[in-house]
Amino acid sequence: MDVINPATGEVVEDVPMASAPDVDAAVERASAAFPAWRAVSPGDRARLLRAFAQEIDDHLEELAALEVVNTGHPIGQARWEAGNLRDVLHYYAGAPERLTGAQIPVPGGLDVTFHEPLGVVGVIVPWNYPMPIMGWGMAPALAAGNTVIVKPAELTPLTARRVGELALAAGLPEGVLQIVPGLGPEAGQRLVTHPKVRKIVFTGSTRVGKGIMAACATDVKRLTLELGGKSSNIIFADADLEKAAATAPYSVFENAGQDCCARSRLLVQRPVYDRFLELLEPAVLGVRVGDPYDEKTEVGPLISAAHRDRVASYVPSPGATVAYQGSAPEGPGFWFRPTVLIPSSSEAACWNEEIFGPVVSVLPFDDEADAVRLANDTSYGLSGSIWTRDLGRALRMSRAIEAGNLSVNSHSSVRYWTPFGGFKQSGLGRELGPDALQSFTETKNVFISTD
Ligand code: NAD
Repeated sequence: MDVINPATGEVVEDVPMASAPDVDAAVERASAAFPAWRAVSPGDRARLLRAFAQEIDDHLEELAALEVVNTGHPIGQARWEAGNLRDVLHYYAGAPERLTGAQIPVPGGLDVTFHEPLGVVGVIVPWNYPMPIMGWGMAPALAAGNTVIVKPAELTPLTARRVGELALAAGLPEGVLQIVPGLGPEAGQRLVTHPKVRKIVFTGSTRVGKGIMAACATDVKRLTLELGGKSSNIIFADADLEKAAATAPYSVFENAGQDCCARSRLLVQRPVYDRFLELLEPAVLGVRVGDPYDEKTEVGPLISAAHRDRVASYVPSPGATVAYQGSAPEGPGFWFRPTVLIPSSSEAACWNEEIFGPVVSVLPFDDEADAVRLANDTSYGLSGSIWTRDLGRALRMSRAIEAGNLSVNSHSSVRYWTPFGGFKQSGLGRELGPDALQSFTETKNVFISTD
């Protein structure tokens, strides 16, 4: 597979893709490594994960530079991504000694629970945030005593491959963490169907996720799904309009809109609709799209020519007009201008489909009930923002919106120590935070008779 630099269109490297037999061999190695890894004492497992985090930190600039070449992400963002992987490893390095069970009162004996590791875990990663998403699956799985095989997206294997080398340098035993670059329908599919793989963590499109869920049913394989989104940014008339307008572009154009949490639906209360669109225009035109190596760049290119063509098919969009567009470089690379669309109704494709590019659609709403109806009218439910100065309304809206990650007067939805995941067809299960660990274990109940 030719890895292409999306900012230039040039080939960076030709990376071999694993075949199904290669995956089988990796699963055998992971299975063989499991008994010894689960037997590593909690303190030693924690120490190894901390050493792994330190290796990431020591190579942060190298990893960030690799990500810039492979994904076109701006350098500042790429540094954050490597730092997120380090932080997630540190966070779950605190888990092995704290993975406590319960002691439950019963007559005639002692009842205790254990959180047993599952065995081999497969982590299938998309191309939009290669390092963080790999870490969100891999770190709690390793901490709980599982061995892990990561399959990076075919377009973005470079940082994952390097992270695998750093794990070995940190002292993780051979076979505990393996990185297997490969094509989804071949290597990915084999991970999903291999009977010795006990759990799949999949982040990617809802279409592929549904197929994986069906395939996991064969072996009743455990599954975490993080899928697509079509999230809303809801602006009430009483909000700080200046702040809401200044920040709205970054809630959808960050990472060139290739973000499952992108607030690609902008809902504005009718009395301030025109004013908000006036305030939004300079904010959109001010987004700095360009050279990923420039420290001031905020947004880079799209991941591939094929993806740019897909995004471009929405602009112009049937049933919508273009309000305004920001700027992007001309010439080589897969650039796209930040774009604001005004659909004629909530039936328009741009309002309903995940575009996964720097395109936002704006509609007016009348009142709270109308905003809830419009925001929830989607099969997705991942994130969203609510802008209002009325605390009661903020709480009512937060409870009414069907999404896993909401922010009020902010667009922040991902912290490694808080739970992350989707309602409805945006996913199944939760990553990050204290809850994720349990999804990499089985609870075992043991009764010991005192008679
Ligand atoms: P994708 O579904 O095409 O691919 C994701 C991964 O699955 C890749 O590694 C791919 O090789 C693999 N894959 C493809 N077909 C497979 C198969 N049949 N069996 C096993 N594996 C297979 O998604 P993408 O285009 O890489 O990523 C974009 C999508 O990911 C968007 O829909 C986005 O919303 C979603 N996403 C969701 C989250 C979240 O946390 N909810 C985060 C990031 C991205």
